[in-house]
Amino acid sequence: MNTTLPTILIVDDETANRHLLADLLKDECRILMAKDGASALQRVREENISLVLLDASMPEMDGYEVLRRLKADEKTADLSVIFVTGQTDEEDEERGLLLGAVDYIAKPIRPLLVKARVRNHLKFARQRELLEQLSMQDGLTGIANRRCFDQALERAWLHSKRSGDTLALAMIDVDHFKAYNDQYGHAAGDEALKQVAFVLSSAMKRPYDLAARYGGEEFVLLLPGIDQVHAVLEQLRTAIMALDIAHSQSTAADVLTISCGALVKSASDGVALAELLQRADAALYEAKHQGRNRVVIGQL
Ligand SMILES: [Mg+2]
Repeated sequence: MNTTLPTILIVDDETANRHLLADLLKDECRILMAKDGASALQRVREENISLVLLDASMPEMDGYEVLRRLKADEKTADLSVIFVTGQTDEEDEERGLLLGAVDYIAKPIRPLLVKARVRNHLKFARQRELLEQLSMQDGLTGIANRRCFDQALERAWLHSKRSGDTLALAMIDVDHFKAYNDQYGHAAGDEALKQVAFVLSSAMKRPYDLAARYGGEEFVLLLPGIDQVHAVLEQLRTAIMALDIAHSQSTAADVLTISCGALVKSASDGVALAELLQRADAALYEAKHQGRNRVVIGQL
């Protein structure tokens, strides 16, 4: 199965209709099918679906109700849904569109029209996914940005609260970065930040590890379930020195270095997220205060 094709979910209570639509679209999409509203909602939760073709008229849960439920759940609210129906009454069309369907196809199916509309909406869906990705990415370094980090941190904190697992949060500053820019110019400064970002993000091996640019020369790491954060950060500190980027204006070393402050905590201990951030920041301040190019693990 070619997984690079977009996935379409066809929902219709009549087998013949499902297969008619599937045959039409099978060359350009990966096809999933559901024969009723409940199983449609189930598939949407399990699969990464780009577009739903939804029969309006089905027994038990009709298409309108399926659409209403999709829109009510923030995880599925943005999913593109095309209504497919035999009812040509304008009021029904209006009802579907008002509920948030992106389009409306009337039965009997006209193959070329269906293909053209599906193609258009898949293109829109793809563009929206790209925009969503870009809005989470730092423009200079290509790693996660602060917005992405904030969302990931909140999710990780909620998970920690439920599971009792620890969460390591590290804040990282490039040492004497302003002096670096003044000495070598902003283009060289940007290049250095890209290299630092690459080292940090390459060290994120597990699915929920995250390295993000927090702003300017500040970076943050999120490492759920890691207790030995000191060893991890020491490795990174050494790896940044090994980049061997000359920095004649630094008091910490003759190459570019980083300072790291971190905290390891479980949300189930009743600590507020704001306090976690504040203490990690205080640990970073302490690392700088002690002479930079070092790792300080804070206490809370
Ligand atoms: Mg039907």
